[in-house]
Amino acid sequence: MHDKQKPLCDLCLSVMTGDCSDEERLAFERHLPGCEACRAEWNDLQLAWGRFTRTWRTSNRPRI
Ligand SMILES: [Zn+2]
Repeated sequence: MHDKQKPLCDLCLSVMTGDCSDEERLAFERHLPGCEACRAEWNDLQLAWGRFTRTWRTSNRPRI
């Protein structure tokens, strides 16, 4: 058994923010269903990231 799990787990944030290659994203998507830690982190990130982009868009609107 080789220890290749950690690099994939580390991709979670990069994939969420789009800061990764297509290959990395595919590798992570394949890894996600089998890794409970990543699934939990992925859910957290989706909530946090969704909230962040919504806040950013709202506060970035021009004030009229
Ligand atoms: Zn993982």
